[in-house]
Amino acid sequence: QSQEVSQARIDYHVALQALQEHGTRMVCTGKMHTDRICRFDYLCYCSEAEEFVFFHSNSSVMLPNLGSRRFQPALLDLSSVEDHNTQYFNFVELPAAALKFMPKPVFVPDITLILNRFNPDNLMHVFHDDLLPAYYTMKQYSDLDDEARLVFMEGWGEGPHFDLYRLLSSKQPLLKEQLKNFGKLMCFTKSYVGLSKMTTWYQYGFVQPQGPKANILVSGNEIRQFARALMDKMNITRVEEMEKEGGSAEDEKEKEKKDDYIVVFSRSTTRLILNEAELIMALAQEFQMRVVTVSLEEQSFPSIVQVISGASMLVSMHGAQLITSLFLPRGAAVVELFPFAVNPEQYTPYKTLASLPGMDLHYISWRNTKEENTVTHPDRSWEQGGIAHLDKEEQDRIQASKEVPRHLCCRNPEWLFRIYQDTLVDIPSFLEVLKEGMKTKPSLKKAKVASMVHPGRVREPKCQTSVQTTNEAKLTVSWQIPWNLKFLKVREVKYEVWIQEQGENTYMPYILPQQNYTFSENIKPFTTYLVWVRCIFNKNLLGPFADVLTCRT
Ligand code: UDP
Repeated sequence: QSQEVSQARIDYHVALQALQEHGTRMVCTGKMHTDRICRFDYLCYCSEAEEFVFFHSNSSVMLPNLGSRRFQPALLDLSSVEDHNTQYFNFVELPAAALKFMPKPVFVPDITLILNRFNPDNLMHVFHDDLLPAYYTMKQYSDLDDEARLVFMEGWGEGPHFDLYRLLSSKQPLLKEQLKNFGKLMCFTKSYVGLSKMTTWYQYGFVQPQGPKANILVSGNEIRQFARALMDKMNITRVEEMEKEGGSAEDEKEKEKKDDYIVVFSRSTTRLILNEAELIMALAQEFQMRVVTVSLEEQSFPSIVQVISGASMLVSMHGAQLITSLFLPRGAAVVELFPFAVNPEQYTPYKTLASLPGMDLHYISWRNTKEENTVTHPDRSWEQGGIAHLDKEEQDRIQASKEVPRHLCCRNPEWLFRIYQDTLVDIPSFLEVLKEGMKTKPSLKKAKVASMVHPGRVREPKCQTSVQTTNEAKLTVSWQIPWNLKFLKVREVKYEVWIQEQGENTYMPYILPQQNYTFSENIKPFTTYLVWVRCIFNKNLLGPFADVLTCRT
C-alpha cells in the first residue's frame, strides 16, 4: 500500500530537476489583464516574501511576454471583479540558478486554481464573484476537475460560507494563510491563475454607479446548470424529481396545487421587516398558499435551498440573501422590498439575475414610500449606516432627503444610512404592487430547445435587375432557406432584406415571408445597390447576413 501512495505522488527528484532545468512555463489567454487567465508549470510561491516566483531558465516560457508592461497595472485580475486595484496578480522573477541558494521547494501535485475571493462574508458576492466564476473557469479547463485544488489568495479566513466553496471540488481549498505550512518555498506543478468573468452580470459601482454589466454574456441556462450541480453536491432532491414518484397525473396536479408555497427570506439583525407576521398573513390570505420563512441565522444553507427550490414566490428585503433566487424553479416570482428613499431601479443585482434570458423568473419590486414607516439608525457605526460622525449640516441634509442620489461604491454615508433602515411594510400598497405585477406574469411555456436555435445564413443569394424606362427600374432578389431550417420546426420564418444605394449612408429594410421579391419602388435605373439578406425565426431570432450582393440596374 505504501508503494501505491508513493506512486500517486510525484517523484520529488524528477520534479526538482524539471524545475531547475526548465524553470517556470506560463501560457495565457486574453489580450488584457482584465480578460486574462494563465496556465503555469512550476509556478512557485515564497510564503516569507508573500510573492509568487517565476524561475527563468533556457527553456522557460512566458506568453504574453509583456516586459515591464506586466506592471501596467498587472498581469491579470485575481478576482472576477474587473480591474480592481486590490485584486491584481503578478510574480517576481528569479533565475533558476537561484534555487541552489533557496530552501528546498515543496511540490504541490494537484492541478490548482489560484484566485482571490472578493468578499466571502457576503452571500451575493460569494455566488456572483467566486462560485459561479470558479465553476465555469473549471469547465473551461478540463483538467480542473473534481480533484482540483483551489487556493484563495485574498488573505481572508474561511468565512461563513466556506462549505459552499468546498462544493467546487473534492479537495479542501487552501487559504493564503495555510500556504506557510508547506514550507518557505512551494511550487505548483500545474496551476491556473485567474477567474473567468463570463458569468458575472453586475458591476458594483467602483467607477460608475452600480448597475448591470454593459455586456452580459451569461444566460439563465448556465446559471441553472450551475445551481443544479450545486444542489446535487448538497444532496438536495429537487421538487420535480420528488413529484415524479408515484401517484396518478390527477393526484399530481392536485398535490402540486396544495404544495404551492411562498418563501419569505427574513433578515434578523439589519434591514428588518418590522411587521413580518402581518406580511406573512397578508400573503397567505391573498394567494391562499402556505408561507414559510427562512433566514441565514436560523437554518443551514442546504435546507434553505431545499425550501427555495420548490417555492412559487420568494419575498425578501433587498440584500445578499436574494442571490438564492437562482435556486427558484422556473416560473417563480422574486419580490424584492426596498427601504425608504432607495430607488429600486438603481440597485438591480437581483432584478438583473431574474431577468436573464432563460432564467424564467418573474421579478417585482416594492419600495417604502411612507417616511413614517421607516426606522433609521443614525447612531450605529458608519458601516451599518450610522451618520453621527458627520457634520450636523450633512446629517440634516441626509435626514431631509427623500431619495439617495446616484453614488459610487462603497462608503457613501447617505446610501448606507438609507439601505440599513428597518421598514414597516404598508400591506395595502404591497399587495397592490404584487397584484399589479402578477397580472403580467408570463405564461410558463416549457422552453423548447428549438425555440432558441438561430437561423443559419440564407444560401445562394442572387439579384437580377432590369430597366423599365429612364426613371423606372426593377431589382429582384432571391435566396434559398438556411441550411439548418430543414431540420427544425419553426413557428414563423421571415426574411429581412436591406437595400442601400451605393455611396448613401442609409438603407431601406424590408421584412418578407417568401424567398424572393421584386423591388420597384425607389429603385432607379443605372444605379448600384448593395443588398443584404438574413433569416429571422419567430420574430426575434436573427440569423447572420449573407455576403452582400452588388446589383447594378
Ligand atoms: N445578513 C443576514 N441577516 C441580516 C443581515 C445580514 O443574513 O440580518 C447576511 C446577508 O445576507 C449577507 C451578509 O449577512 O450575506 C452581509 O450583509 P450586509 O447587510 O452587509 O450586505 P447586503 O445584504 O446588503 O449585501
